[in-house]
This record gives sequence, C-alpha cells and structure tokens, in this order.
Amino acid sequence: MEERPSKELPATSQDAPTGRDCEEARVLLSQFVHGGMKRSADRRFRQHLTRCPTCRDVYRETLASAARLGRALRDAREEEARERRRHDQRKAALQAGVRGPRSRLFGLRLALLPALVAFVWTQFDRGPTALEVVALEGRAAVLVAGDRLEEETAEIVAGQWCQTLGPGRARLDASQGRLWLGANTQLFLEEAEGGAVRLQSGEVEFEGDWRVVLQLGVVQAREARGRIRVGREGVQIDCEEGALRWGNSRGERDIVAGEGIQLGLRDLAQGP
Ligand SMILES: [Zn+2]
Repeated sequence: MEERPSKELPATSQDAPTGRDCEEARVLLSQFVHGGMKRSADRRFRQHLTRCPTCRDVYRETLASAARLGRALRDAREEEARERRRHDQRKAALQAGVRGPRSRLFGLRLALLPALVAFVWTQFDRGPTALEVVALEGRAAVLVAGDRLEEETAEIVAGQWCQTLGPGRARLDASQGRLWLGANTQLFLEEAEGGAVRLQSGEVEFEGDWRVVLQLGVVQAREARGRIRVGREGVQIDCEEGALRWGNSRGERDIVAGEGIQLGLRDLAQGP
C-alpha cells in the first residue's frame, strides 16, 4: 500500500485560513447545499472561500456534483413519463382492437405499432435500465429508494439511492459486473446501463466495469476487482486485479493491481 506524503499546511499568518476555519467552512458548505444557512454564516462562508483555494475547489466540485445529481434525477423523471405514455398508447391500441370485427384489423395494426416501436427501441437501447439489489444477510436492513427491502431482491433504477443500515450488506448485479455494499454504505445509481454509481459514504467492493463517482473525483474500473472506502477523513482506493483510473478536474492517474492509494481531503481537492 502506498501512502502519499501528507502536505504541510500553509504557515499561519494573520490572513491565512487555519485548519479550524476550513473545518467550519465544510460544515457551512453542507448547510449551504441542504439549504437553511443563516445570513451571518453565509457571509463568513463566502469570506472564507475568497481566502482559501482548497475550500473554494471543494465548493465548486460540490456544486458540480449537485448539478450532476439534479440532471440524473431529471432524466429519470423524463424516462418515467415516457414509459407512462408508452403504456397508455399500448392500452389504447389494445382497447381499439376489441371493438368489433370491422375495426379489428385496424386495431391489430394499432396494437402492433407500439410493439414495433418497443422492438426498435430495445434494438437501440444500450442495456438494462435497472440493476438487481440482493440483500446478503437476512436480518440486515437494506433500503432501496428509501424503502426497506422486504424480499431478498429488488430492482434499483437510475436516480435512486441504495443504502445499507448497521451491519447490513447488499450486492448490486449488473450485466457488466457486481458490486458489494459494505455496512453503513450509501450510494446513488446514476446510470444502470453504464454501471455508474455515486458513493456517498461507506465501502464498496466491485468486479467488472464500473464508474464510481466520489465527491471530488471519479474511479473508472475496467474488468477490475477492487475496493473503495469513503470515510470522514478521506478516501482509500485499492485495486486487486485489472486496472483502475482515478481522476478529477485536476488530472488522472492509473492504479494498478496490488496498488492502493489513500487520499486525504486536501489531496482530493488538489487532484491526482
Ligand atoms: Zn478552507
């Protein structure tokens, strides 16, 4: 396991932000993202951002991440509306088909039309639109989109959260590989077909092709096996087999089999 040398904090002058200022700024940032920041706190937060490039980067990345999440949610809602319209069209066409002998042929054609559209749609579809969630320990609680998993398996679609509570563990099965959620782990499914998830907290093990989005960067796994842990103090990325690529807006680096990297909050803000 390779550990990066920790970078020295800048010498404290009267103006330079201190570690304590940054800690407070991160708390304020979370208030800012979730709404409900007091006006006086807002001023303090913005003053800190003007003086501290590290927190400024964290702020920008957080906004970008929130925007990505918003887009994913909007796409999921649009897809749901499209699916509802397709369903209504199929239903209308089927009803037209049972009206009588004269309209039967026409109705049959109408009934076939959505089937043809659906066929063409699946031909151009990039893959599955849902992943299967499997609860690994019977008594352990797993939430999918906020609902407790009652059966052993459930489906999760893009735009939904999956979360293990306490010692709960779960597995995500996709055509391109598998991903195991450790205890107290929370992730958001960004794309089912591309295996893109956002790991909010906790630990995942994976095999196959996955894109794991972290708060300050992305891990791309290609036919790989490895592990990612997100804690309060930073991120640990281990590659056991295959190759991983870690990157953010500042650059990219490969993580080869047998290698592990540990990233503190400062490293994360500064890039690979
Ligand atoms: Zn700061």
